[in-house]
Amino acid sequence: MKKIAIIGAGPAGIEAASILAAHNFEVTLFEKSSTPLSNILDKAFLFPSSVAAADLVDELNAKLLHDNIQLICEKEIVNIKETNDECKLFDKDGKTYFASKVLITTGYTIFDAHRKEELGYGIYKGVISSLDLEKMIRHKQIKNSIDELPQRITFLQCVGSRDEKSGNNYCSKICCVTAVKQAIEARKLLPQAEIYIFYMDLRMWGQTFEELYRQSQEEYDIRYIRGRISEASATFDGKVQIKSEDTLIGQPLKMTTDLLVLMCGMEPSPGTKTLAENCQIAGDYHFIQTIDPHLHDNETAQTGIYVAGSAKRPMSIRDTLSDAAAAAMQIMSDCQ
Ligand SMILES: Cc1cc2nc3c(=O)[nH]c(=O)nc-3n(C[C@H](O)[C@H](O)[C@H](O)COP(=O)(O)OP(=O)(O)OC[C@H]3O[C@@H](n4cnc5c(N)ncnc54)[C@H](O)[C@@H]3O)c2cc1C
Ligand code: SF4
Repeated sequence: MKKIAIIGAGPAGIEAASILAAHNFEVTLFEKSSTPLSNILDKAFLFPSSVAAADLVDELNAKLLHDNIQLICEKEIVNIKETNDECKLFDKDGKTYFASKVLITTGYTIFDAHRKEELGYGIYKGVISSLDLEKMIRHKQIKNSIDELPQRITFLQCVGSRDEKSGNNYCSKICCVTAVKQAIEARKLLPQAEIYIFYMDLRMWGQTFEELYRQSQEEYDIRYIRGRISEASATFDGKVQIKSEDTLIGQPLKMTTDLLVLMCGMEPSPGTKTLAENCQIAGDYHFIQTIDPHLHDNETAQTGIYVAGSAKRPMSIRDTLSDAAAAAMQIMSDCQ
């Protein structure tokens, strides 16, 4: 039986592991955290269907219950070397493991909003990240900086993406629809609140996303303003004052809000960056580079090393799962 190592037990790693195991490959799945799916467990509901993240976690975890899959948690892999037609993996304590082929599925991390000091994250309690809001929605408790129900919530798109200053010129692809999803969930919890989304462009690129955006306006009264917020500061009563420009009417704008939600983009996870660098397969912005975006989009320049999911670029769960299936097929075909 051929041995395959997969690094990272997110949606991509689990999907690929289950397909390979079903086809009689012996899979070892290495996960850095104490449990799989850390980047799904911290979400409330998932676009496009509003399914509870916990339900998807259960379904994906069930896929791991296969005799051909060995899951090893709290194991961080930091390097891979090819020797005599075999791949040698190194964990961070210097221990080694062998496999015929290795699939990297080490995923993403959310942009650290502290890096945008002018927006006040970590300085003013009323400024939160999209991930902080996911937690509040999960616990069904959205509160402002003085623990009261917010009367106005304002979302700001493109934080740490499409932004030369933070070094990330790319679009993170999922944050426009994430804002729509979160605004709808916020409305369900706060029927009286005013909810605004400040955007540069709205990129509703996925199936049913445009409809969700429309629904957010027509059924949930979410209001959209085309403009960028340049600065946030606190007011004496615990609110956040924002300075912006409405770029559709060309007017500067000042307003106060109870919560400013920063829609942070996706960056390669530290694990992705380390493996990209150590295996010499780093592409733009330290995501992992594939050989070709059309016909060889799961193969890397190193023989025996493959990649799937958000370790190579920002992607949704649906795209991640399809990409993982493609990677598993490629590995099976290359093992014949
Ligand atoms: C705020 C927010 C909301 C979102 N909401 C949605 C949504 O509603 N719907 C949707 O489709 N998508 C959503 N997403 C995107 C979704 O989280 C990703 O599409 C998905 O998690 C990508 O899966 P992945 O397997 O590629 O990577 P990840 O989920 O990042 O999994 C990677 C795994 O690899 C592990 N790992 C990392 N380095 C190492 C290492 N060196 N050794 C071993 N293990 C390692 C990590 O611990 C992690 O478990 C959202 C993202 C954000 C930021
Ligand atoms: S998906 Fe939307 S919010 Fe995210 S970077 Fe792209 S345009 Fe900006």
